[in-house]
Amino acid sequence: MKSITYKLLHQAKPSALFNIISYLPPLITISPTQKTLTETEAALNLLDANQQPWLYHNVKVVEAMAYDSDGQSAVGLPGVNAAITWSQKTRRDKLLLQALFARGMLQISLADYVSALSDLQQAYELASDDPNSLSKAHVAAMIAQVYEYRSENEMALPYFTEAVEAHRQHNAQYDLSVALYGLGKANANLGHTEEGAQQLEESLVIAKQVGDEQGVAYALKELASIDITNQQFAAAEDKILQASLIFTQAENQQMLFNLSMALVDLSIKDGQLSKAEHYLQQAEAQLVRQTMPVHSISFDEMGAKLNALQGQFEPAYHRLAQAFATHRKYQSETSTKQLHQLRTRFEVQYSQQENHVLAQQNALVNLQLSQQKNQNIQLLLLSIFAFIACVSLGVLVLRNKKHKQRLERLATTDELTGLCNRRHILAMLESQMLQASRYQRTLTIAMLDLDWFKQINDAYGHSVGDKVLVNFAQLCRHTLRESDQIGRIGGEEFLLVLHHTGAADAQTLLEKLLKKVTDIGPLLGITTTPVTFTAGVVSYHHDDSMEDLLQLADVALYRGKKNGRNQIVMCDRIAKRQSAELIA
Ligand code: GH3
Ligand code: MG
Ligand code: MG
Repeated sequence: MKSITYKLLHQAKPSALFNIISYLPPLITISPTQKTLTETEAALNLLDANQQPWLYHNVKVVEAMAYDSDGQSAVGLPGVNAAITWSQKTRRDKLLLQALFARGMLQISLADYVSALSDLQQAYELASDDPNSLSKAHVAAMIAQVYEYRSENEMALPYFTEAVEAHRQHNAQYDLSVALYGLGKANANLGHTEEGAQQLEESLVIAKQVGDEQGVAYALKELASIDITNQQFAAAEDKILQASLIFTQAENQQMLFNLSMALVDLSIKDGQLSKAEHYLQQAEAQLVRQTMPVHSISFDEMGAKLNALQGQFEPAYHRLAQAFATHRKYQSETSTKQLHQLRTRFEVQYSQQENHVLAQQNALVNLQLSQQKNQNIQLLLLSIFAFIACVSLGVLVLRNKKHKQRLERLATTDELTGLCNRRHILAMLESQMLQASRYQRTLTIAMLDLDWFKQINDAYGHSVGDKVLVNFAQLCRHTLRESDQIGRIGGEEFLLVLHHTGAADAQTLLEKLLKKVTDIGPLLGITTTPVTFTAGVVSYHHDDSMEDLLQLADVALYRGKKNGRNQIVMCDRIAKRQSAELIA
């Protein structure tokens, strides 16, 4: 295991690390774990995770494997986790492969084989066949080892075989030696001792050739196991002692302990109990109970076995009880650790899902907001448009109305005086005649003509003449009643239509007007000619036509002119008839 870790320290070295080679000498030569840790620490002090993330995470992966080799696998785990997260996010598949592989190894050390297999299978998918990098063959060998640790040797065989074939094909001697060792061990465990022994022998020879001392020691130990199975105890002891020398030089405490235990087992099987006792004491000296719980259990079990064989049942019982207690404690610690890991993984996944859901909800809310905003803008635009349309329409209607009113006014009104024009006053007269006839009402009309108007025009100008006309119209409006109607029917001629009015009332009204009209002259500075009018007044008779009525008024007016002007002449129907007869 340790030799593989060293090998990996070597393999995991990314080419860019050569840039900081002076700080990382242990990465290019196999060196003791502690030194690797010191050097990676020095490198990490010089690196900034934000500035050089790729290099930083690579070094963290190497550091994690050094921790693993140092028996502090859990310490290296966060760094590898961060490297995996970063490389997944930035799609650095090569670093991801190395980090997954490294985490797989840490989890093997932490006895979390399920997680280890999961990581290694992912790494296997990412790995290529290129023997110069972390290849499929390397990962396959490690997967096989996990199965071997789980005593699933059948499962391990195809992976070890794949690794052996690939390394043999690429003439990768060192790797071939390691894979052959695994394959041989698996075969031996499955009872294929002959085949296993052959593979282990080949592994040993190659390890010697490439100078992998510990590889030699591992192979020797397994070959010794086969010897023990075959009851060749002397040969087994010889091989174990050779391996012990190598592991002592390499300061591989765990393997030294394993070898001592193998010697105890061997001595018991050989029936040499005192020798077994000696090796058991040797194993106890190599055992560090705090960091080697699994080893502690096998030590106590072996001790109990030896005690029992020696007839010392009480210490045997105590040792078994201790082994049992350690086992229980280890199991509970392991399951707690696994539970914690599971919970952490669940929490991470849960929070990721929650974040995902929140992000989706946010997106939905934003979409709704933007839709609402768009709707609001559309609504606002629509309101503005509707408002503008309404205002335009209003303005248009108003303008139309004004235009219509103006047209109507032009059609019915005399422009200079603002009174009804001829057409309009005659239409009103016709309507009043109809009503008077229908409802038996009185109706009187008066035809007015300003006196000597030509003289005024001639003396003071046409504009002053106009002013006289305007002033006279105003005077009429002020003096006459609301219900009375007046219109300009000629240049300086006017027609008054007075409904509900008899001849006498009409005369009174016109006299009032005749009195006031004289004020106009002085008002406009007209002194030479008095401003007066002459009026011919006639009341409506139900058999009168409009022409009749107008003619009667006109005759009366004519008479007034004749009689010296500035007067009101009431129609004399008899006189009219006489004059008509006269004319006839
Ligand atoms: P009589 O007392 O007999 O009615 O005399 P007269 O001068 O008023 O009558 P005549 O018919 O001889 O003259 C009417 C004059 O009124 C002639 C014309 O120039 C003037 N006249 C007609 N229309 C207008 C107008 O709109 N403005 C002005 N300033 N003068 C007008
Ligand atoms: Mg006239
Ligand atoms: Mg006149």
